[in-house]
Amino acid sequence: MNEQTVTIDAATCLYGIIGRPVRHSLSPVMHNAAFCRLGINGVYLAFDTDDTARACMSMRCLGIKGYSVTIPNKERIISELDEPDETVLRIGACNTVKNSAGRLFGTNTDWIGAVKAIEKKMDIAGKTAVILGAGGSARAVIYGLKKSGVDVTICNRTVEKAEKLAKEFNCKAAGIGHAEKIRADILINTTPVGMGSLSGTSPVSGQGVMNYGLVMDIVYSPPVTRLLQYAMNAGRAAINGLEMLLVQAMAQFEYWTGRPAPEETMKKALEYAISHETH
Ligand code: NAP
Repeated sequence: MNEQTVTIDAATCLYGIIGRPVRHSLSPVMHNAAFCRLGINGVYLAFDTDDTARACMSMRCLGIKGYSVTIPNKERIISELDEPDETVLRIGACNTVKNSAGRLFGTNTDWIGAVKAIEKKMDIAGKTAVILGAGGSARAVIYGLKKSGVDVTICNRTVEKAEKLAKEFNCKAAGIGHAEKIRADILINTTPVGMGSLSGTSPVSGQGVMNYGLVMDIVYSPPVTRLLQYAMNAGRAAINGLEMLLVQAMAQFEYWTGRPAPEETMKKALEYAISHETH
């Protein structure tokens, strides 16, 4: 990989991810590989905590430079920040914190991950999209799509939640079954259907998938979900959750360091970690 050697010493900067659970996180391998590649004297660790107040106090006290923030901390950390940006306030979730001389700045890069992953395959301005789910990640994806000029319909199991979100972001809303019937350029699954105990199941049928030009699943384990299998079988463009994970991590890296993230290095580290997962 042609990586530089980095010595951990008294000047090493500390970064990490705060979440619970967090031991499964793929963020440390990506960020540490990037630090090595660019010869940055930094280390990125995983911190298993749901105590955002003390995590932020530690950040200020110990001079920890940056956090990635994951479940269940993305919403509750906002009140600990000195300067949450517009993305945090609109999405209502923060996945990235930067410590600048003791002031904590917060942003959200999940929406960038979703939008850029799609833009690699198609221009999205003026397109139509169906979003499955109305939870935290749906909010980030919808924020990004609306900002990019996409006409969005939210389809959710609990239709009232879809309606509430649709009002906030000026979208249309329906029950999840509606996704079988309507046509759109893009379909994005933001529900956990397809992972864990729901592995092997799909939120939309093989027939329903034919109504869309491009299908993205933000579930990344397994990398190819049943939904994406349907899309590929139907000859549709398919994007897996690892793409979004990679791009949102690259945006975090750039937010912290001010340097372009080494995409190939981070991608290889991610793929290596996925192929060596033991669970
Ligand atoms: P969340 O806030 O809990 O929202 C989950 C959404 O999925 C809700 O709208 C819920 O519907 C729906 N849902 C849950 N179980 C369902 C089922 N069995 N059938 C149909 N709908 C169901 O979760 P989240 O934080 O948005 O995360 C969702 C997924 O995104 C997770 O799998 C997470 O790993 C993944 N994710 C990936 C990335 C990435 O970078 N690739 C980033 C963030 C999250 P109700 O409203 O009816 O309960």
